[in-house]
Amino acid sequence: MPSKPAPRPTQTAAAPIDRGSQVEIEALFNSIGDGIISTDEFGRITKINPAALSILGYKEQELKGEWFPNLITAVTPEGTPLNLIDRPITKAFLTGKPISDKLLYIRKNGKPIPVSVTVSPILVKGKPLGAIEVFRDITLEQEVDRMKSEFISLASHQLRTPLSAIKTYTHMLYEGYMGDLNESQKNSLNTVINASNRMNELISTLLNITRMESGTIAITPKPVRLDVLADDVGKELALMAATKGIKLTVRRRPKEGLTVVTDSLIVKEVMSNLVSNAIKYTPEKGTVDIYVREQKDDAVVEVRDSGWGIPKFSQDQIFSKFFRAHNIVKRETTGTGLGLYLVRGLIDALGGTVWFKSQEGKGTSFYFSLPKKPRKPLRTEGAPLKDV
Ligand code: ADP
Repeated sequence: MPSKPAPRPTQTAAAPIDRGSQVEIEALFNSIGDGIISTDEFGRITKINPAALSILGYKEQELKGEWFPNLITAVTPEGTPLNLIDRPITKAFLTGKPISDKLLYIRKNGKPIPVSVTVSPILVKGKPLGAIEVFRDITLEQEVDRMKSEFISLASHQLRTPLSAIKTYTHMLYEGYMGDLNESQKNSLNTVINASNRMNELISTLLNITRMESGTIAITPKPVRLDVLADDVGKELALMAATKGIKLTVRRRPKEGLTVVTDSLIVKEVMSNLVSNAIKYTPEKGTVDIYVREQKDDAVVEVRDSGWGIPKFSQDQIFSKFFRAHNIVKRETTGTGLGLYLVRGLIDALGGTVWFKSQEGKGTSFYFSLPKKPRKPLRTEGAPLKDV
């Protein structure tokens, strides 16, 4: 989309529409509950329905003919104005594909309003003739979401207290403080201890997810040696690997180590998640390798396994909340499908990227990259990540 609209109105080669259909289209356009704005190929507003006017607080004559991105300011949830290149309408023009996004529009009275937007380019023979933007006010949805997160957070906190009593007393029983136990009693208590550890992990994950979603995890950037962190994670998960006869190795490339300015607690949580998944989803006697590499201004960590892999048709869902692939569900019943969702949110918050390559039956490599020095300011308010 050119940055300056041409002065003359656009001529479109639309097929003739009879008056009956025209009236019907007009009625449909005006009665739809979502806001609709259509533009010409330069992004100038050609049509706008009453719902859009009411969401934005403008009158029709104030918008018609105006250059859309100029008049309606869009900002990110953090409050920074979106660059023209990042606006959904520009992306739709550039890619020729429908683009959906969530952002804030600034109403005429200056109040930001959260909206969910889909912009579809109107293409004739591959040439853009304009765009249609459909958007709706999601204030209520966001409020319900916030209340839901608050409930989960409260419930998780409440669950922790009785759980710690269960853990303390089972440990005391196991250690013989209440008298000697026979082997089968000890085995039973071991099962209780393992189950309560799993429940504790689950509660921490739930708490971290609600806090990640509401943006209240504080990030404390400090110089962190990624290779040393990988060693720590390797040591902590060595027993888990050993019980399956899996060879877990940390292979570091830069001799002098690799320092990144980031939050060590969050990166450790990410690494632990990826490495424990690699162990969990690799059959006995397999291998799991952790690589720490430097790539220009970034550090890249790879967790490579020789495991069951991720089926091709499941690969685009792998970071979705609660998703577990079918080849894994039939082998491993324990799991929530929340780990990778959390990993992606945490890496996003650190200004990094996470991705993977996998071949079913051969193995998987999960990668994450982090800028050696943060490129954008990291969110520092809130509370640190909950330790499992
Ligand atoms: P969980 O491990 O609790 O199921 P995750 O969100 O960590 O949840 O992982 C989601 C799904 O992604 C897993 O159930 C599994 O299907 C797949 N997955 C994750 N890591 C691997 C891996 N290293 N190898 C194969 N599949 C994996």
